[in-house]
Amino acid sequence: LSKIPTLRELYKATALKAIELSKIRYQPKDDYLEKVSLYQGDITNLEVDAIVNAANTSLLGGGGVDGAIHAAAGPQLLDECRTLDGCETGSAKITKGYDLPAKHVVHAVGPIYSQCNADEKAKQLESCYKTSLQIAVQNSLKHVAFPSISTGIYGYPIEDATHVALDTARQFLDSDYGETLERVVFVVWSDKDKGVYEDLIPFYFPPA
Ligand code: ADP
Repeated sequence: LSKIPTLRELYKATALKAIELSKIRYQPKDDYLEKVSLYQGDITNLEVDAIVNAANTSLLGGGGVDGAIHAAAGPQLLDECRTLDGCETGSAKITKGYDLPAKHVVHAVGPIYSQCNADEKAKQLESCYKTSLQIAVQNSLKHVAFPSISTGIYGYPIEDATHVALDTARQFLDSDYGETLERVVFVVWSDKDKGVYEDLIPFYFPPA
């Protein structure tokens, strides 16, 4: 019985969500209707200028999306990653895409949820998205596809992480810096994650 939520618990959760969502006050704009996408599936199939990898500090490969990207890109990707001397949490580094249909891979290192305090990890996750977008613009890349960084093996709750991802992307696209980007794609794997993005996207990218 303890596993079954009571109405009291349900109302508490809904009220929290309503308060949280009412704080999001981005201007409605049609600017992003063609610029932002949600895609469910394997990020390694996307023929875009850059896919972002949810990497670890070694940049030498791992499980999850990192493993899938290295497997699809071929061994030359690991050879280039070896020359990069790792990457700090919250930062990102770019490589070529090799056998991937994507031209480049931006390797971003998200926070491990259990390892730091709430403010710190939100800042690090925000920094992953922001740095990846900056790197894309600096390299004249027009489209970037993101997996849901840190929400797999690294344990960041999907709702919290999605707020950070969407908020950071909206702020970046609103800035002068973001003007040259033609498309930002959020890639989800599971139905649950897709539902979370579908629920939250209208708050960060409301149409006029
Ligand atoms: P992290 O270590 O940063 O948590 P993971 O790779 O474990 O990274 O998970 C990040 C997200 O990527 C998860 O939502 C996971 O379901 C998703 N994912 C795993 N494989 C793929 C793939 N091939 N394409 C897109 N997303 C993927």
